[in-house]
Amino acid sequence: MEKKAKIIATLGPAIYSEKKLKKIISLGVDAFRINFSHDIKGVKQIISQIRKFENKLNKRIAIIADLQGIKLRIGKTSSEKLRIKHNQKFTFDTNKKVGNNLRVCFPYSFIINKIKIGSKILLDDGKFTFKVIKKNKKSLVTRCLSTNCILSSNKSVHIPNIKIPLKRLTKKDKKDISTAKSMGCNWIALSYVQNSSLIKETRKLINSDIGIISKIENKIAIKNIKEIINASDAIMIARGDLAIDIGLSKVPSIQLELIKKCTTLSKPVIVATQMLESMIENPSPTRAEINDIATAIFQGADAVMLSAESAIGKNPTQSVKTMSKTILSTEKYKKQHISEFKSSIDAKKNIMKSVVLSVKDLAYNPRVKAIIAFSNSGKTAKFVSSMRPSVSIITISPNVNVSRGVSLLWGIKSINSRDARNWNDMIKISKEIITKEKSIKKKDYVVITAGLPFGKAKMTNMIRLYEV
Ligand code: PGA
Ligand code: MN
Repeated sequence: MEKKAKIIATLGPAIYSEKKLKKIISLGVDAFRINFSHDIKGVKQIISQIRKFENKLNKRIAIIADLQGIKLRIGKTSSEKLRIKHNQKFTFDTNKKVGNNLRVCFPYSFIINKIKIGSKILLDDGKFTFKVIKKNKKSLVTRCLSTNCILSSNKSVHIPNIKIPLKRLTKKDKKDISTAKSMGCNWIALSYVQNSSLIKETRKLINSDIGIISKIENKIAIKNIKEIINASDAIMIARGDLAIDIGLSKVPSIQLELIKKCTTLSKPVIVATQMLESMIENPSPTRAEINDIATAIFQGADAVMLSAESAIGKNPTQSVKTMSKTILSTEKYKKQHISEFKSSIDAKKNIMKSVVLSVKDLAYNPRVKAIIAFSNSGKTAKFVSSMRPSVSIITISPNVNVSRGVSLLWGIKSINSRDARNWNDMIKISKEIITKEKSIKKKDYVVITAGLPFGKAKMTNMIRLYEV
């Protein structure tokens, strides 16, 4: 049995070898994430290696360019282990000089203006907390509330409840979008999205075969979630930054809520961050981490993601293996109890969804072994996947970038093949595919779906029940 939910592995030095890349792809990685917040030297070559394995392993792979967005950071510090004592005063100012144990540069005067006395400033991914006790024109005097604060250069800064003006893409993000295009990335992930404006701006800069993933990492995004989901091609629940912004205990219910919303609107959803955090160091996971992966699968996520585990961890291969195994065993249970997990797709406003819902209903019959979807643009593929049918979903697109992109989506086995010219040709291509599928035998049925007329269709409008 093949797993249905997909695995995204973040690229990094821990997997920068042909052997490791090949190994983790064969163990179940379906997509790679390039984190543009870090140095991307050497990534281009890694991508060409991944593309080489696509043919060898007969599997299309999605590549996601994850843009940095606006991330606030402090300046340089005189030591990489600067100790700040509990309860001592500490100043954040706009002075570019190297910081010490009394002050550090915080080069955003427009934000200093907005912060109120009593506000918290969280440093280093929320590890350390400072409270503002005095405000000057170009500096903030704070008190350190943490007992074990050690600072180093360029650590991240987070200020809860502050609205950072982020209406336009940053210069770096624009440059990274053009790099991502030249590298043949299939998805762009936007960090710290607050509403649909960044998504719309990005849309103008990319071709239609690149999808946009909006990372949900703060309260404002949650408030504008419907607008964001509608404007995006997929959503990532970026639990790292999200937890810092809304508080750890609120993350589980927000995760469930977001997955439900995406399911209703037929938008793919990724659950990310710290899924196997302990495996960065240890060869085996914690029980809680396995439960976390399983929960995401039960809730209906399309994909789960490895971050530092695959990028810089000590056990990237073992992490992928653990994730695959957990997904498989969870899906086995879920399949046996499928009626408990009926989804709530809203097809009223979209006739294409109704067509695809019928495809799913047909595939409920045990004699149907697969759905074959001809999908030039990837739209049919996306909708079929969103219905979560229990049989294999094989999608065919003549555009290799579409084939790569849709391989991120739940249940899709993506094939890059020529487009069907006519009805007979469609059957011919389907037959070629069926003969390669060991699970499909003579007298079994497959459901073929496509848009007619071939090559010109605007939507899925054809369903054919085909006896093998
Ligand atoms: P990041 O996003 O890894 O780019 O920060 C994910 C998250 O915030 O959870
Ligand atoms: Mn983040």
